[in-house]
Parts: sequence; structure tokens; C-alpha cells
Amino acid sequence: MATLNDEVLKRTHTCGQLRAEDVGKHVRLCGWVRSYRDHGGVIFIDLRDRTGITQIVFDLPTPAHLPEAGGCGGQAGMPQHKDNAEEVAMYDLARTLRAEWVISISGLVRPRGQGRENPKLPTGRIEVLGDTLTVLNESKPVPFSPDEYTDVSEDARLRYRYIDLRRPEMARALMMRHRICKAMRDVLDAAGFIEVETPFLTKSTPEGARDFLVPSRLQQGTFYALPQSPQLFKQILMVSGLEKYYQIVRCFRDEDLRADRQPEFTQLDMEMSFVTEADVIAAITPVFRDICKLAQKPFPDEVPVLTYDQAVSLYGIDRPDMRFELFLRDASQIVAASEFQVFADALAARGVVKGVCVPGGAKFTRKEIDAYTAYAGDFGAKGLAWCKLEAGQMVGGVAKFVTAQMQARLRDAFGAKDGDLLFFIADTPAGANKALAALRCKLGRDLKLYDENDFAWCWVTRFPLVEWNEEEKRWDAMHHPFTSPRPEDLDKLETDPGSVKARAYDIVCNGLELGGGSIRMHRPDIQRRVFKMLGISDEQAQSRFGFFLEALEYGAPPHGGIALGLDRIVMVMVGGQSLRDVIAFPKTQKGICPLTGAPSVVDDKQLRELDIRIITPPK
Ligand code: ASP
Repeated sequence: MATLNDEVLKRTHTCGQLRAEDVGKHVRLCGWVRSYRDHGGVIFIDLRDRTGITQIVFDLPTPAHLPEAGGCGGQAGMPQHKDNAEEVAMYDLARTLRAEWVISISGLVRPRGQGRENPKLPTGRIEVLGDTLTVLNESKPVPFSPDEYTDVSEDARLRYRYIDLRRPEMARALMMRHRICKAMRDVLDAAGFIEVETPFLTKSTPEGARDFLVPSRLQQGTFYALPQSPQLFKQILMVSGLEKYYQIVRCFRDEDLRADRQPEFTQLDMEMSFVTEADVIAAITPVFRDICKLAQKPFPDEVPVLTYDQAVSLYGIDRPDMRFELFLRDASQIVAASEFQVFADALAARGVVKGVCVPGGAKFTRKEIDAYTAYAGDFGAKGLAWCKLEAGQMVGGVAKFVTAQMQARLRDAFGAKDGDLLFFIADTPAGANKALAALRCKLGRDLKLYDENDFAWCWVTRFPLVEWNEEEKRWDAMHHPFTSPRPEDLDKLETDPGSVKARAYDIVCNGLELGGGSIRMHRPDIQRRVFKMLGISDEQAQSRFGFFLEALEYGAPPHGGIALGLDRIVMVMVGGQSLRDVIAFPKTQKGICPLTGAPSVVDDKQLRELDIRIITPPK
């Protein structure tokens, strides 16, 4: 049996590598004991590393007095005949192995033999007959097995992340992440982009979220903000003449975490000078093309482009899932004269009656319709009106309020035919769109209107520059306050901000926004006007963005860029369900890292150095 010397670390192969062609080779593997089975006289070990699993066999040695003593000795390249006592010791050691111990073995690759092959494993046609075994480290009994994690709480998986990451899917996700980052760098490098790092300890850049603050020890009473994105720095790099910048960079946003958010996340951030929207789109498209190629996902030659208005009108949302048709239609005009009170009230309040035609939906039971109503209710709908089409007639639900003439027009507008069902929501335009967009996606899933392997990409352009914040009674930037209005809308900046369109664009895949950017304002006077329209006074603009406005005064070129959400892209490419599946050390929904226990209280000494006192708020 080998002792721990450097030799035992010299692997000849990885655990995912050996194939039938390797039979007869003498190899050395290192890894973790995934499982062990003692069949009395034969011990089977599944040995795992990040590349896969190989079956190792330890045979009980034949007693020394028998002629075959020496077991597997004799082949070319093999250690010669071994002492029988040593083999017995190795076998005994093999019997002590337990899950997740770290071992090094050497041995002969041999075919598994008839009926013992495992076609599901790439290495399933061979096994290694162990002739040396070294225990590199033992493991305490693991809180969960990396291979049986599905019933394990996510908290446990994150607390013992090092065990969770031993799962092949996690290793694959991190590997894919690495390769995607490399593809991003390769494409942009070839196109003349330069990766530049920008500071983490900086001043607030608004992306619509709360800042994480870091107290300064040297300038007591002051704080750095962790960047929500490198937005201002990348624009300043354009002023500095860098022309083509990119960075794979961490961004920090202190938001209440929804399922698909993390407080720190990674972007591919880029910016270029002397460009229009089309140039930025043309520069970033090959990045997606290469990522899809390596992840073996489809990417179209021509990505469809929708305006924001088209997307919202047809899909109810600015990130449409275009894997399936099932378009929303505005029925307001058609049902304007209906006696259905809910429709009349909504229309009188300048709302809309919008709906969707469900192919084959006439077979929905009352219970199913109620379930869809409840689902729409989760997205704010106060109700869901419906009617079915049967034998050329609308029946059920609101059909009695729909005249024959309206019926004909509805059938036309929705392309509805016998056997279909119409759902309607009467609400404000935003309210109706929100609930219908969600309902549409649920219908798409439930009715299997697309295949899990389908991919649908689109660009969405011409967003509104601002949206009305009813709570704060002010206009908020829809992307961020550095996005340029379209030049033809400049006149309306002060008089009708809601109608101003932005030079902004998002890329959407399967209903997920994977990136967004814009052409920026390079002229300080326009930037100042936009700040003012957003309710940022000259003084506030000066104190928050004075450095940036000043930079714009010194020869800022026209410029624009985009940022792609790396975590989301990897999630889509590996088919993950959560961002936590593709981030090595993510936070929980409460912003906690169960592995390290962050955030945590700090020493009094650390607080004193920062001149910070914690005052427990009154209960
Ligand atoms: N800074 C923006 C963001 O993080 C992206 C951009 O406009 O380039 O969403």
C-alpha cells in the first residue's frame, strides 16, 4: 500500500475520462468516494471528481499459498508482484472507506464485463481494478449526499456549499459559467474592446435600487457606496477616449430579493464611442451567438426587433416570451357598448378591456377557469371575464352581455374559432397588461404551447424615457437617468415627459431580460434638463453627479453601451431554475450567506475605529 508521497498525487486521468479504448492501461485517479458497496470479497467504489465518476474494484486477494497469489500482477507497465500481506492490508483499508473520503488509487483499467456495463455513465464500460489505495483525507459523515440533494433544504445546501458544489450539475454550471465568460472576453477582445476595472468603493450610481454603504475610517462620518453598476465610470472612460470598454464586473443592489435576484450579481458591462443603437446591437450580438454555440442552444441569424409599444400591446410586457404566439388583443372598442358593468366602469375610467384567446379552451371546466381567475388575481386582476365559442356562438360567462355584432368582431379580432375560450380583463392599461402577461405565460406552460428546448430571442427598443411614480408623484427614469431621449422627442422633455421615447434597448430570451443598455446623453445641457425633469434639482445634481457633469464638459463623444446579466445568461444556458444554481456562493432570499454567516455583528473595536455606534431601535 502506498504511503502519502508526491507520487500518489500524480493522476494519469480524471474520473470522467476513461473509456473502453483505455482497457489495459495502468492508471492513477484521485477523488471523492461517492459510494461504496461491499459485496463480500469484492468492494466497489464510485470515485468522483469534477469531471465524472469511475468505478473502482478492490478484490479480496487470493491466499498466498495458492498459485495465483499476486492477484493482478504481471501485465506490462504494472508494478510487479506484490506482497500478499500488503494486498490484504489494502483490501482491509478499502473496507473502511466511507462517503466523501478523499483517496488516490492506482490500478488496471478493465472491461466491466457482460451485463455489468452502465450505459448512462460515459465511463460505464470500464472499471479500474485497484492495486494501490491511499487515503488522502477522511470525511465526517456528510450532512447530505451530493447525489441525493433534492430533499435537502436550500439552507443546508448553501451552508455546506462545498459539498453541494461536488454535485455534477453544479460543477457543470460553474464550468459553463467559466466558458461563457471566456467567450465574452474572446469576442470583445477580437473586436478591439479593452477590459478596464472600475472601483468598488465609490459614489452612488443610481440604477433604481438602494445602495450598499461602506463607512470610511479615514474620513469618518462619510460613506462609500458599492456600485449598482459601473455606469458613470464607463461613460467617463468614453470621455477619456478609451472608445471600446468592457468589464465582467460585480454590481451591488440592496433590493428586496425576489426569486431571481441577488444582492451582488455579475454583468458583462460594455460601452463604445461614436455609435448608434444599431452599432451596439451589432457589437454584442456575436457574444450571444458564441455563447449559444458553446451551450448548444439555438440563436437566430436575425434577432427580431419589437418596439416597446408592440411588445406591451401583444404580450402585455416589455420582455415577451416569444416561444409561443397567443397574442393579447384590445377589445375596448368592440365591447364599448356592452351592458356588462365591469367593462363599462373600466372604460369610463379610461381603462381598457383586453383579452386573450385560448385555443381549445372551451373544454376548460369551471374549476379550471376559477383557478385561472385566482392566478390572474395574484397579479392584481380584480376579475377574469370569459366566454366560450361553441357551434358558432359565444356561450357562458359574459356571453350574455355580448351582442351578435360584438361577437362577430371579437371572433375576428382574436382569430377565435369554435372550441376556443376568450379571457378578458377590464382594468387600467397597466393593470390589464400585468395580469394578462402572467396569465398568457401560464397558459403557454399549461397548454404546452412550446417545447422546453425552444428558444426565442428578441430585442425590445424605443422604451419610454420615464415612467410615472404615483407614490412619489414624480417621473422616474425607466432605465437610468443617463439614457438619451430620442432626438425627435427632445421638445417634449418638459411639456410631455411621458411621451418621450428613449434610445434604449433590451435583449430578451424566453421572457427573461438578459441585458439592457442605451445611447447616452453626451451633452451636459441635455443631461441637466433630464435631471431636472426627474425632479433632481441643480444642487442635488451637483452634489451627486457634479464630477460626471463636469467630465461631460470636456469633450464627451457620443457614446452608448449595454450590460448583460451573466448569472441569468448562465442560468438560461444550463437550464437552471434559480440564479443560486449558477453562482458559487450565493445569498438566500433574506440576503444571508449561510456558509459564512454574513452579515454578522462586528467587534466593538471595529465600530470604534469607524466612530459608529449601534443604537438598538426601540421595540
Ligand atoms: N448600467 C446599466 C445597467 O446596469 C446598463 C447600461 O445602461 O449599460 O442596467
